[in-house]
Amino acid sequence: MTDCLFCHIINKEIPSKLVYEDEQVLAFEDIKPQAPVHLLIIPKRHIASLKEAEENDQNLLGYILLAARKIARDKGLAESGFRLVINTGPDAGQEVYHLHVHLLGGRGLGWPPG
Ligand code: AMP
Ligand code: ZN
Repeated sequence: MTDCLFCHIINKEIPSKLVYEDEQVLAFEDIKPQAPVHLLIIPKRHIASLKEAEENDQNLLGYILLAARKIARDKGLAESGFRLVINTGPDAGQEVYHLHVHLLGGRGLGWPPG
């Protein structure tokens, strides 16, 4: 996907504050953090949103969650807790159409979200 912001970040054509990278996923700081820790975890393969994920993405989706857990632990959030958010589509306010998991923590998070 040539004209995707997060694909540009994956390809290092747009700078980001990387916190984790392996062969399947990338994690970097959100540019407009909503909490002391606010990271985005994305698959390196372009998937527009969770709506576009398919049955054979099962392993990748699980992999992303386990990566999020590892990163949360590395950020010291294991005890205090954290939240993962996947905005999907207009009502959820999805702005970037490359699947991403928000990892939020470092403060008490309200519920329900706005
Ligand atoms: P969403 O509303 O779930 O699509 O979230 C997109 C997120 O991407 C927002 O929290 C933005 O602040 C974040 N974002 C947009 N551009 C960048 C960028 N260049 N680097 C890091 N985060 C970004
Ligand atoms: Zn993309």
